[in-house]
Amino acid sequence: MGFLDSLSGQITNAGKDIKKKAADTAETMRLQNEIRANQSKIDKFCEELGKRVYEEIKDAPDEKYAYYVDNIKKLQERIIDDQNSLRGLKETKVCPECGATVDGSSSFCTFCGTKLS
Ligand SMILES: [Zn+2]
Repeated sequence: MGFLDSLSGQITNAGKDIKKKAADTAETMRLQNEIRANQSKIDKFCEELGKRVYEEIKDAPDEKYAYYVDNIKKLQERIIDDQNSLRGLKETKVCPECGATVDGSSSFCTFCGTKLS
């Protein structure tokens, strides 16, 4: 094989290498995205499964689930306490027309539309 043939062959091989690397990179990204997307779907199914199981067992949880159920209940109570504290902090107005309690910054009742003073 002459020098030019050899050089030509090397250039062709280099071109093939670059094409293969680009294809591999694209395939790597496609696979990583697919893995991430499917892991995300699994996480959502697990979350939904957890919520459904929680609803079924929350009143009489098995020993192995008690820790989770107790923590969820404690956090739910905490949320209710915080929501009540928030209501206490927020200035409110009572609609003279329908009696609804609305945000103090509202100019109109958010329930019936009555103009508030
Ligand atoms: Zn109203």
